[in-house]
Amino acid sequence: MHVQFLGAAQTVTGSMHLVEVAGTRLLLDCGLFQGRRQESIERNRTLPIDARSIDHVVLSHAHIDHSGALPTLLRHGFTGRIFTTPATADLADAMLRDAASIQRSDADYLNRRRVRMRTHEPEFAPLYEMEDAIAAIERLTPLEYHAPRDIAPGVRLTFFDAGHVLGSAIVALDLEEAGVRKRLVFSGDLGRPNAPILRDPETLDGADVLLVESTYGDRLHEPYTEMDDRLAAIITRTFSRGGKVLVPSFALERAQEVLHSLTRLQLAGKLGPIPIYVDSPLTVRLTQVFERHTECFDSETLALMKSGRSPFDPQNVRYVSDVEESKAIDASDEPCVIVSASGMCEAGRIVHHLRASLDDPRSTVVIVGFMAQHTLGRRLVERRDHVRIFGVEHERRIGVELLAGFSAHADQADLRGWVSTMRARGHSPRIALVHGEPAAQRVLCDLLVADGAISVTIPAPGDVLTI
Ligand SMILES: [Zn+2]
Repeated sequence: MHVQFLGAAQTVTGSMHLVEVAGTRLLLDCGLFQGRRQESIERNRTLPIDARSIDHVVLSHAHIDHSGALPTLLRHGFTGRIFTTPATADLADAMLRDAASIQRSDADYLNRRRVRMRTHEPEFAPLYEMEDAIAAIERLTPLEYHAPRDIAPGVRLTFFDAGHVLGSAIVALDLEEAGVRKRLVFSGDLGRPNAPILRDPETLDGADVLLVESTYGDRLHEPYTEMDDRLAAIITRTFSRGGKVLVPSFALERAQEVLHSLTRLQLAGKLGPIPIYVDSPLTVRLTQVFERHTECFDSETLALMKSGRSPFDPQNVRYVSDVEESKAIDASDEPCVIVSASGMCEAGRIVHHLRASLDDPRSTVVIVGFMAQHTLGRRLVERRDHVRIFGVEHERRIGVELLAGFSAHADQADLRGWVSTMRARGHSPRIALVHGEPAAQRVLCDLLVADGAISVTIPAPGDVLTI
């Protein structure tokens, strides 16, 4: 029995690990690598394994860096099942279709430019087409939390709450080979305890090997409890100047958290029925999935639903579908809140809203998510005086506020707490840190050793750990 680290090893994207037991080959996650454009294209075109040799996939959650290479796997001949939770299956349905259509339109754009510039580059092909995404969606096999299932000889799978995004799971694999039994636990991405909407990350008994994410291994987040009041203060201040509040937001989870925060603020009487626009078709679709999967909610969110109120539906919210309506928001002088994608301001309608308000010192852009290097979002975080949008330089006069507490990831203290409890409930498990940048991983590794963990490793891509 062993596990090989194929992706999200000493980096945060492209999650993919291969588990081999008793002749069965399982993939834990099958995600896209995300980084500089050319490197991403090259790494995502080829898979590090023979897709036909994989029996099944176990998918921890719907984020594209965990699920986005599934259509590639199908394209290369995978014929097994993709086990995941019911909510993740629904989210992945929307997100994989969206990923396929983005790739198609990116390829069309690059090919038009190729023709216009008369370059001799070969025609640009998308990573995969809609039919590959649909083939992957058809393989999705939902499995409820806490319902063990034998998915192959010697392999029993159980999902537990990870509290990261809707449907996210900690994966427990009970493995048996030649009479030897071992329990491998993969944290997936872990959420924050006491965060709104979802139930908290769980811990479980009997782990022999632990694969643990380490995204924020070197950082502590602001407390959740302060986020609502800070958001309300930013909105009130901006509206008093007659400005707009722009919230670039990932379509999955972050957008729903912001909508939930606005709903709570209104219920608490801290915010009136201000105009709110949700301008992202994918966000609208994913929010509908949230409303169907109440089985994932914590008790506070369930109580709110029982009172007849959607947790994601503040008063006076408008879901924008067509582009003309989107443009009309920018043309109007009315103060409003605009929640729009993409999260890092690299694409999507948020870019147009930013361009329209960038030189308006009355307005504010509120940063609620991680902004990678080389993105427009990162340049806003750095409060640069000038930024480029669609190749044109603009003066930035819009205010920038950071609300880092909205993170969907456990911070350093949360990770240490989770590992300590898992160690106490397991068999002195061996720990492998995945899904983190090396600097964050080293800090977390040292702390876990100081906490008493006996074996902690930071596997490199391709490394193998015997279970
Ligand atoms: Zn994630």
